[in-house]
Amino acid sequence: MLQPGGELAGGRVPRHFRQLPCAVIPGPWPGRHLAGLPLTVLSRRCLEEEPFVEIVPYPHPALRWKAKPVSQIDAALRSTVREMFDLMYEARGIGLAATQVALPIRLFVVNPTADPDETEEEFVFINPEIVRRNGSSEGEEGCLSLPGLYGPVRRAEVIVVEAFDLKGRPFEMELTDLPGRVVQHENDHLDGILFIDRMAEADRREVNDHVLAFETEFRQAQAEGRWLPDPELERALQELEPG
Ligand SMILES: [Zn+2]
Repeated sequence: MLQPGGELAGGRVPRHFRQLPCAVIPGPWPGRHLAGLPLTVLSRRCLEEEPFVEIVPYPHPALRWKAKPVSQIDAALRSTVREMFDLMYEARGIGLAATQVALPIRLFVVNPTADPDETEEEFVFINPEIVRRNGSSEGEEGCLSLPGLYGPVRRAEVIVVEAFDLKGRPFEMELTDLPGRVVQHENDHLDGILFIDRMAEADRREVNDHVLAFETEFRQAQAEGRWLPDPELERALQELEPG
């Protein structure tokens, strides 16, 4: 991830990385809304000014949340999407789902090139639905919520996905190869399903220690107050659900 003061492609350091060695500032914060709902600060990181989105690590309860459909596309949602793309590029990812930034809404962003300059390759999927799946193929996957962990996952070879874009226009896409795999991976996130759940048992066993290490680290962070306890995170997620 980006170091404080580091350079991004485009030279911009997003405000959520401008952290100060300050005291905890509890949410919810006024003045910022997502689809008409207050955006609550979900971690106890120090902030300079505004609430922010960040990629939350496994096993944050957002990653097991069944996200609700987006009910409204407004300026706040558009700016959240921009932040999600920025976070994705910083983490060198090719897809990022809203649940990965602790927003319980059915939305994900994809850029299969991982290159922020390739803006024509940026796709936003709002309230997506995979309406057709054909064939089967295995490929290596990783996830920004479990950085450094990789494993083989069997997915449909060809899919047809329907969704809405950021202007609220419906679209349909037939996807194969990497884009098809990314969309299936991200779509799973909206139902609280992770790629480790899709791995064959023997492959899953091989990464078990790595998964447990993530769990230990997150529980330790909660014990030290760096993350809120699960019930509070779950309450915040409920508050963020579109009505
Ligand atoms: Zn993922």
